[in-house]
Parts: sequence; C-alpha cells; structure tokens
Amino acid sequence: MTRDNARMKLHEILPREARQRQQSGAILLDVRETFEHATGMAESAIALPRGEIPERIAGIAPDRGAEILTICAHGQRSLMAAQTLQQLGYANVTSVAGGTARWIEEGLPMTKAGGDEDFYDRYSRHLRLPEVGEAGQRKLESARVVVLGAGGLGSPAAYYLAAAGVGTLVMADDDVVERSNLQRQILHTDDRIGMSKLDSAAQALHGLNPRVNLEGLPERVTSSNVEALLEGADVVLDGADNFPVRYLLNDACVKLAMPLVYGAVQRFQGQVSVFDAGRQRGRAPCYRCLFPQPPAPEDAPNCSEAGVLGVLPGVVGMLQATEVIKLILGIGDPLVGRVLMFDALSMRFHETRLAPDPECPVCAVDKPFPGYIDYAAFCAGA
Ligand SMILES: [Zn+2]
Repeated sequence: MTRDNARMKLHEILPREARQRQQSGAILLDVRETFEHATGMAESAIALPRGEIPERIAGIAPDRGAEILTICAHGQRSLMAAQTLQQLGYANVTSVAGGTARWIEEGLPMTKAGGDEDFYDRYSRHLRLPEVGEAGQRKLESARVVVLGAGGLGSPAAYYLAAAGVGTLVMADDDVVERSNLQRQILHTDDRIGMSKLDSAAQALHGLNPRVNLEGLPERVTSSNVEALLEGADVVLDGADNFPVRYLLNDACVKLAMPLVYGAVQRFQGQVSVFDAGRQRGRAPCYRCLFPQPPAPEDAPNCSEAGVLGVLPGVVGMLQATEVIKLILGIGDPLVGRVLMFDALSMRFHETRLAPDPECPVCAVDKPFPGYIDYAAFCAGA
C-alpha cells in the first residue's frame, strides 16, 4: 500500500460516535505524551504516546483487524497516529476529530487519575469489558479477599486474584515449602523449598502484580484468631486441606455474614460452591447444610494420603477465583445453592442443587450463633 492510498482511507469521527464505538469494543488510544494526561483522559482510553506506537501496538492490539480509534489533544496528532497505524497494517483505524478538548466539551466521561498509566495498561483487557470497566476495576482494587491456605487451591486462586487486580489479599498458612508441594502449588518454586509459604507466595504475587497489597497470618487458624483474620473481608476463599479448619471457617463466615467460596479436591475429583448463608439466611445454604457431620477420618483421606492429580487443584482453585471476582463485581450468577462437581478422568462437570437446611445448627433462620466448638474433636468423631 502506498502512502497516498493510506492517507485517502483515513477517517474521522466526532467524540460522541467514538464513545459509542468504544463501548461496542473499539480500542481508544490516547496518543498524547504522558505529561499531557494530568488533566485526565477519555474514559477507558489506553495511553500510548505517538512515538511508542510501532513498538507497543502489537501488545495492545495483536489483531490487525481490530477497530482502533486515536485521540490526542485537538485532533491533529491523532490523524498522524492513525496513518502510522495503517502503515503498520491496521486496517480499521479512525481518528477522533477535535480530540480530548472536544470530548470534554461534549460532556463525555473522563478518567481523572491522570498519570496512572500502570492501571490502564495492566487492566486494559478488563477495562474493555463493559461488565467490568473502570468502575469494576476500582471495585476489585478496593476489595479485600482472604485466601485460607497458600497450597494447592490457594496457589492458582491467589495468582489469578492478584493478576486480576484484587487490592488486598490476606493469606493464612503456617507451613514451609516442601518439594512434594511443587507438583501443584504453583506459587512456590524449587529454590524456595524450606521458605515459609507466605514469604514464597508474597514473592510470586508481588512479582506478578506489585500493586497488590499482601497481608499474612503465619499461624494455624483457630477459633481465637479467625475473626481477626477475616476482619473487613469482602469474600473468603476456602483453600483449607483439613476438615476442622473448614468447619471453623464456615461457622465464622455465617456469623460475620461473609460469602465463602468453597473448593475441595481428592484424587481426580473436585467440587466448588459458594456458601452465602450469613448474608442470605434461610435462602442460601452453608457448608454444614451440605455436610452436617464430618466424614469418618478413614473415609476422607487427605491429599498426602490419597494423592491428587497435580492440575486438579488448579482447575478447582481457578473456578473459586472466578466466583470471587464475580462476587466482588456483582455480576453473573454465583454458585449459591449449587455444588459443581468436576471429574478430570471423564472430563465432566455436573451440578447438584443444595437447599438450606432449616435445622442447620449454624445457619437456620432466627438461630443465634451457637459459638465456636472444638473442631478437632468434632471431626475426630468425639
Ligand atoms: Zn447451614
């Protein structure tokens, strides 16, 4: 394509139409220099100074057929940027006439946090989803999620929650990294064997997303520290590997009215659910409605006894992370009142309905919280 042909195909549209196209999926590139962002950017625009287009555009828009809109201050440089993009092989490029000045004149939404390029760059794929957008991403950033356990379920879950931009992750784990963990606990690495799991997790999660705030409880979770651990949490993710902690966490979440995203794995099978009885008394079940009594110890071997396929907690932990993100954003249908079962060997999911138990000792309507019990004795069948 010659330069003249490219120029002849350049299009311009006014900001209002650009906004509509952006909302239906077009990428809006703000091609001004970084220092010009102090007064704000068109909402959900991606900052890409004109001089950096050739080296960075492929990372932002890998598909050369993607619809791209360019915007600058007044509409001149965005035309030049559009031309550059066409020369790079982008076929569907339009410049916003009048630029950011006209965008503001037309009263279109702006992002005020000028200068926070890391935010707009890092989360650009979320920002393009209307179900998330800037408001949703800010919700994620101000969310506080407790992940109990930095093991098989906590590893993939915390990794993706950090990547997704959950603002504060509170993890509890009192173990150190062992070689036998590495087959599934992907937060940890071979050169961190012997390190505390919390320190190892912090290295991995900060390395992935330095914006995430990490807090940790390097102790066993008991009825005397559980409420301090959960304080202020928006969602709690159960990555526990034993029944006493699982019952304790359930009871605390019912008492404190917090949603609990449950996951469990054994050999080739896993299950996931969301227990929200604390906030939805009589309408949503809790873990005790599903399992009023713990299984006999011989019927419920743990992973170290029974074995587990390494990828299985990955699948289940990521289903849990998905539910956590949906709960924070308030989108979709959470797995409340449903238990999703996964069988890796047959590669089948199936779902069963779970109603709240009107006689449940912890979540029955109008029942006062009975108090924490001796969970170890309860699970030992005492
Ligand atoms: Zn219950």
